[in-house]
Amino acid sequence: MVAEVDQDIHAQELATRPVPDHDLFDVAVEQFTIAADLLNLDDGMRQILRSCQREFTVNFPVVMDDGSVKVFTGHRVQHNRNPGPTKGGIRYHQDVTLEEVKALAMFMTWKCAVVGIPYGGAKGGVVVNPKQHSAGEIERLTRRYTTEIMPIIGPERDIPAPDVNTTPQIMAWILDTYSANMGHSVPAVVTGKPLVLGGSEGRVEATGRGCAFVVEEAARDLGINLHEAKVAVQGFGNVGSIAADLINDLGAKIVAVSDSSCGIYNANGLDLRAVHAHKDKTGSLCGFADAQEVTNEELLELPCDILIPAALENQITASNASKIQAKLIAEGANGPTSPEADEILHDRGIQLLPDILANAGGVSVSYFEWAQAMQAFPWSEEQVNTRLRLIMQKAYQAVRESSLEHDVSMRTGAMLRAVARVAEFTRIRGVYP
Ligand code: NAD
Repeated sequence: MVAEVDQDIHAQELATRPVPDHDLFDVAVEQFTIAADLLNLDDGMRQILRSCQREFTVNFPVVMDDGSVKVFTGHRVQHNRNPGPTKGGIRYHQDVTLEEVKALAMFMTWKCAVVGIPYGGAKGGVVVNPKQHSAGEIERLTRRYTTEIMPIIGPERDIPAPDVNTTPQIMAWILDTYSANMGHSVPAVVTGKPLVLGGSEGRVEATGRGCAFVVEEAARDLGINLHEAKVAVQGFGNVGSIAADLINDLGAKIVAVSDSSCGIYNANGLDLRAVHAHKDKTGSLCGFADAQEVTNEELLELPCDILIPAALENQITASNASKIQAKLIAEGANGPTSPEADEILHDRGIQLLPDILANAGGVSVSYFEWAQAMQAFPWSEEQVNTRLRLIMQKAYQAVRESSLEHDVSMRTGAMLRAVARVAEFTRIRGVYP
């Protein structure tokens, strides 16, 4: 139940986030085109890979608490089904658009391919501000949306998961609705479900843990001694706080962390146990005794060796990229760096581990959760973490080799690996009929 409570808190914070605008699909296609050019993909393959195979939009009625009826719009998009079933979260947000869902589905295809798990990418979304609805209304909305997208989801078709404003409880309602319609229990239809319903050990920590694994690999390659390294982490939620704790366990000093209310900085290193205790007690990082307060913008520019943006998108931009002092950046968040900033950082020789690699630990353990549900055979937390380490290390090495071979950034290196892999699946399967 602890995980559920945490997720609800995350959901409230997430509700205030800006979401990417409608141009996100253009950005996704642009990133794909850079990789397609370097891989010399032919025009037919480009057309296949830059299209979403299925774009499903549903309009469905929900009875409100006062007895009135309201119609909601939802989407489920499957970008590419060639690697296997598709996988991706469902978000509830008033700004959800089909274009945004398409872009996020495409990013999921590349993320799964980077870590080599047998899924294509998908994403779902419902246009709703969950803050304006009761739990009962959200449950009815979830159950009806699930029923509407039932023809295209399923353990061997497309497996949803939590995303912005959707929680383990919402996954439990999806599981229950799908199972009721099938006439038997189907726990593998969703991941990110509560542990008691077959959620995986280690899933809550997986994204931060995966991020810590790739930081460890990159630090070694860059000659950064983690016992002397200083680390700043933007965002002290699920991803940021777990990554901070684990990198701290590796010997590094966490000199700064932040949440939506403020950042705290101590050049000699923060006592993370005391920071957690303060945040648990007061609900924010503000007022932590043994540190100086900094803004979220200042945090990014602090003297440190490693920077982990783990809060929001679009934080490192053309206006601050030249002021960043870290030698290594690991993108815990999705899309924290703008394309212009990417170029500036690359030119300055700052190593950036892109989101589709650095935060892929989450989808990797979702894959483990699905595999456990398909086999009705739960793994121990140790098994989960050991397999996650292997996946992340292998993916990091492959991305590094690809970036060195083509003399490109790690982001382009990751895209090259991902696009090449999905193109290969697609080429070998052929075009039907
Ligand atoms: P979370 O809600 O648990 O934590 C987010 C943190 O960011 C909180 O500390 C919050 O206070 C802080 N924050 C919110 N608004 C902020 C602002 N304006 N300035 C600075 N900090 C702010 O969310 P999370 O699950 O840790 O996700 C963080 C990022 O990681 C998101 O981009 C998410 O898409 C990405 N991500 C998460 C997972 C996962 O498994 N949780 C997987 C892949 C990617």
